[in-house]
This record gives sequence, structure tokens and C-alpha cells, in this order.
Amino acid sequence: MVGRQECERVRELFTAEIDREASEIEEAAIRRHLRSCAECAEAYDAHRAVARGLAQHPLVRPRAHPLPPLVRFRSQAFALVALAAAAVGVVVVLLAR
Ligand SMILES: [Zn+2]
Repeated sequence: MVGRQECERVRELFTAEIDREASEIEEAAIRRHLRSCAECAEAYDAHRAVARGLAQHPLVRPRAHPLPPLVRFRSQAFALVALAAAAVGVVVVLLAR
């Protein structure tokens, strides 16, 4: 039986561990806990998947953006136009009431 307090403590260390900022002692504690606690092991996997997704996100790592600068500019401009159009649409709907 694993204590709930230990689960909370280990989960607080997930981010540091994934960012490789945890100490060796903390890492060992996390690994030991994950072996004995399926719930935390699952939470850890989910946490790591999110962290990896974020690391590959263009806003987090602009230099790793797969699109050339011109295309990127166009897609940003398009997003801005789409946002403006949506805002206008909301105003029109509100005024029509
Ligand atoms: Zn746990």
C-alpha cells in the first residue's frame, strides 16, 4: 500500500524530473514510487506526453518550426483575419438581437 502523501510528493517532482532538473535522489525516489504505484506511473506517462508535445510546439520552439518564414507569416496573418472575422460575427449576432 502506497501512502497518498507520497503520491502527492512524487507528482510534484514530475515536472522537475521531466525537465531533468530533479536531483539523483529525487529521480530515484520517483522511479521507485512509479514501480509500486500504477496510478502515478500512468499520471507520469500522461505528464511526459504533454511535456513532449509542448516541447515540439512551434510557439515554444520557434526555431524548430517546420514551415518557412513566408508561410509562417501567412498562416499567422490568416489566423489574425479569422479571429477578426469571428469577433465581427459575434458583434453582428449581438446587434441583431
Ligand atoms: Zn503514487
